[in-house]
Amino acid sequence: MYAEYAWKPSAPIGERDLATVKGDARRSNSGGTILMTQPKTHSRKSKFAGRAAARAALLLLAACLCFSEGSAAAKKQKKPPHKARPAPVLTTGTTPPPPPSPPARDFFGQQKAPAPLAARAIGSYVRGCLAGGKMLPVNGPAWQTMRLSRNRNWGHPAMVSYVEKLATDAQKLDGWPGLLVGDLAQPMGGPMLTGHASHQVGLDADIWLKPMPPKTLTPEERESISAESVVAADQLSINPEIWQPGHVQLLKRAASYPKVARMFVHPAIKKALCEAAGPDRGWLSKVRPWWGHNYHFHVRLSCPAGMEGCVDQPETAADDDGCGTEIESWMKRLKTPIIPRIPPIYKPPITMAELPAECSKLVGYEPPPPPVPAGPPLPERKLDAAVAGTPALPVTTPKQDAKPTIPLAGTKVAKPGAAQPGKAVAKPAAAQAGKAVAKPAAAQAGAKAAKVGVPPAKAGKPAAAAPGKQAAKPVPAKVVK
Ligand SMILES: [Zn+2]
Repeated sequence: MYAEYAWKPSAPIGERDLATVKGDARRSNSGGTILMTQPKTHSRKSKFAGRAAARAALLLLAACLCFSEGSAAAKKQKKPPHKARPAPVLTTGTTPPPPPSPPARDFFGQQKAPAPLAARAIGSYVRGCLAGGKMLPVNGPAWQTMRLSRNRNWGHPAMVSYVEKLATDAQKLDGWPGLLVGDLAQPMGGPMLTGHASHQVGLDADIWLKPMPPKTLTPEERESISAESVVAADQLSINPEIWQPGHVQLLKRAASYPKVARMFVHPAIKKALCEAAGPDRGWLSKVRPWWGHNYHFHVRLSCPAGMEGCVDQPETAADDDGCGTEIESWMKRLKTPIIPRIPPIYKPPITMAELPAECSKLVGYEPPPPPVPAGPPLPERKLDAAVAGTPALPVTTPKQDAKPTIPLAGTKVAKPGAAQPGKAVAKPAAAQAGKAVAKPAAAQAGAKAAKVGVPPAKAGKPAAAAPGKQAAKPVPAKVVK
């Protein structure tokens, strides 16, 4: 029985199931020997069924083979029409790949001072750097900067003046106690060692939603005090114990300046703003929901006018307050449980090569020169067994010696006349000597071999007379042994 069934990998499923159902538990539990559990005594009918099934399996196998061949043939037929490709250029060495570019954060993350240049935001918010950065003072009449150890209270002067104005306006006009300011940018902007995909050109700022306390914080307190989330634990609404009307006023004030391009808040905050805004809703279009903004809000300014190399984002639609379908879709997303990816997606750090070239100059990074091929290209050359096995003859060039090369002793070469004179093929080098004689067929082959060995086959030129192409070994006419 074993021999009968062992060779049939595709035994009918019905049999296999039957064996399992019939319950030879000892064997079927052992896995692969289920087919062995067929009862030894078959009825004639079942034997017939077994053979029929075997035949069916064979037919199926044959059909599969035919199909695979057929589909291979079909694939062959479906192949797009052949396009002539340029002949591969052989080089004495391949062009090496460009050396990997180093992570930009390693350069920008260690800058302690701004680039002493005119203020410029270079590149985009997520791929850029900052020249002539200005420091937001750690204390002002209506603000205090936090986490001083990070040295990220630098920005384009437009951003620094924005923060100062917002802080004083909010305090004076709206009664907000003052701003606690989080990260702006590094002294030269660029990618950071930790956090933030943007904040690279000095036009982004994080401002805490926690009001400034009525005292000047010590440096230690600025490191240790926690920000406060205004979002409830369910992540779908704001926490009414922390959220206050002053927050709506502050966010409206922050969005009100023309140079503000975007603001980012947690979706639950956006929803609360939509509900509290009233009839004046134009500013809401700039306030966009985004993850992670429940402790602070993010302000992004447009590129200052006429700033070359600064890349803006597309403007938001002023007539869309984002309170309809957009915020509804965000609410749905918030209700959907987040399943972490395993393994997590690795996002490689931004490299120096990905930033504008001016950013490399700011931090004194000199990119390596582009790789060059290791040697000059060789002419196209096909090596076949006959040519490859032929010893090389001395190289002669017209300048050195116009005389044709002499065939090796004991060899015969193609007859010059048989090499189809007048045709645009190179004459075999040895055939010029005209001493040895070979059969016409061999001469044709010799002409072919010579043509292969000579760079551009020019009529009438000896094979060895390839000026300046020392790398190409002269190939004599085919040796007739
Ligand atoms: Zn931010």
